[in-house]
Amino acid sequence: MPFSTLRTRGRARRLSTSLAVAALPLLLGMPLMYWQAATLLQSRAAKSAADARTQLDAMLGDAARAAGVVLPLAGQACENVAQTLRSQVAVSPFSRSVNLVADGLIYCTSLMGAYERDEDTASYVRGQLRLMAGNAVTPDRAVLVYRQAEGNHGVLIGIDGQHLINLLQINGQEVSLQITVGQSWIYADGRVTATPPSGELEYATQAASSRYPFRVAAGYAPGVTLQYMQDHYQPQWLLFVILGCLAGAGSYRLGLRATSPGTALKRALEADEFIPYYQPVVDARTGSWHGIETLMRWQHPSEGLVPPDQFIPLAERLGLIVPMTRALMRQIREDFAERADQLPRGFHIGINITAAQCHDLHLVDECRDFLAAFAPGQITLILELTERQMITPTEITERLFAELRQLGVRIAIDDFGTGHSSLAYLREFRIDVLKIDRSFISMIDSHSLSRHLLDNILDLATRLQLDLVAEGVESAEQVQYLTQRGVRYLQGFHFARPMPAAPLFDTLRTPPTA
Ligand code: C2E
Ligand code: CA
Ligand code: CA
Repeated sequence: MPFSTLRTRGRARRLSTSLAVAALPLLLGMPLMYWQAATLLQSRAAKSAADARTQLDAMLGDAARAAGVVLPLAGQACENVAQTLRSQVAVSPFSRSVNLVADGLIYCTSLMGAYERDEDTASYVRGQLRLMAGNAVTPDRAVLVYRQAEGNHGVLIGIDGQHLINLLQINGQEVSLQITVGQSWIYADGRVTATPPSGELEYATQAASSRYPFRVAAGYAPGVTLQYMQDHYQPQWLLFVILGCLAGAGSYRLGLRATSPGTALKRALEADEFIPYYQPVVDARTGSWHGIETLMRWQHPSEGLVPPDQFIPLAERLGLIVPMTRALMRQIREDFAERADQLPRGFHIGINITAAQCHDLHLVDECRDFLAAFAPGQITLILELTERQMITPTEITERLFAELRQLGVRIAIDDFGTGHSSLAYLREFRIDVLKIDRSFISMIDSHSLSRHLLDNILDLATRLQLDLVAEGVESAEQVQYLTQRGVRYLQGFHFARPMPAAPLFDTLRTPPTA
């Protein structure tokens, strides 16, 4: 799998977890807000219906009172009682007309005096209420007629439809309200129909009067809950979004700062955050690049570039150095294989390995895979083994080094002079290269006693007839001193610092000279 894919995968997982966490307040808050809005709308609908019913009850109570006053007059001659009817209309706030009935005939009205028309008792619900779209006097204006009867005498009180419209409009500012009397419905716009409202209403409810035969129906147009949430819950939305952002960012940071250093290393390994830097090794005779040493860096998403001495010892202790080196070799191969034609033939690629990697034969397969990406002889792979960790010779190590040798892999002893590798040790493992530790190179600039120590190490190395690489070369004096004593390969800040692949290949075209 390519380097970029692995790295993106770790980041993508962290990102998707953080996004899920960020969405959590909204996901939990949404049903809560929905439930709150639904409860509120439901109780609001119920209250509007109940309020409208109470008000209509009061209107009809007023009509009933007026009817009670004039009912004893029914049967008397119209000219004697017409004035009383008119004064009742005047004192009753909602009544627009008062009519008298005798023997099934409306015979006297407050509006026109003597009159004659059949009563049509059957059209009154429970003999008490009738909702009409209009009547002979006002055909286009709704009227609610209240009837009170005793024996063959009766009173009809007309309540103007406008009172009902007002009542529906005042109580139905947010909810849709209708009054129904039997099969007649009156709407807030004054329409009177014989059918209930068409279509499904949300939170539909009804409040029936216990005193008169009417009900008030209430409900909302579909989609009201979401609309309500959108209109009224903006601060809550904002709060959930802010909480989500904070939680998401917190989770992202927590993801970066894994609980233990070991977990942090494992996470970083999965995210392919360990990347190779390359430091050139210069051939002092020609001034050209002999090869490079690979130095691991941790490209930490928040800490930046972490140097290896801060994580390699832990990785070694946890056994993670093995998969880390494997991943690093894959990246080095990708960096170099595609640009191998830019390299001088036999270019040395040095990789640091630890003693732990010499206890089985996996390294052979890894080196074989690595070399398979290059034409034979195109590069030379060098494994650098630090002198500080001695390897005990066993059957396995013997086979390991023999098989590596067969592959053409060369072995270098790193930090030479700092450990205790005996001549026997160097012979046992058939070492090819000695890398003289930079602590000796820095002695060149100091007084003669320390220089003497370096000279002894150089003598020993020369007698062993091994390739010598001086590490940590920082000055022209050091270059001169070392080359005079036959050290052929030099590495250090004097030539170049460790760098990523891109600048390495840029400088490779114009290598620095000593
Ligand atoms: P090392 O193998 O001895 O690598 C040389 C170290 O010296 C590098 O340090 C390099 O940056 C530094 N160096 C090079 N030239 C100069 C110079 O002129 N002056 C000074 N002062 N320093 C110079 P770095 O990269 O910090 O690596 C430290 C150590 O970490 C390495 O020492 C090596 O032992 C270990 N290491 C690095 N990468 C790996 C790896 O992939 N696997 C293992 N097992 N160990 C690694
Ligand atoms: Ca090294
Ligand atoms: Ca070294």
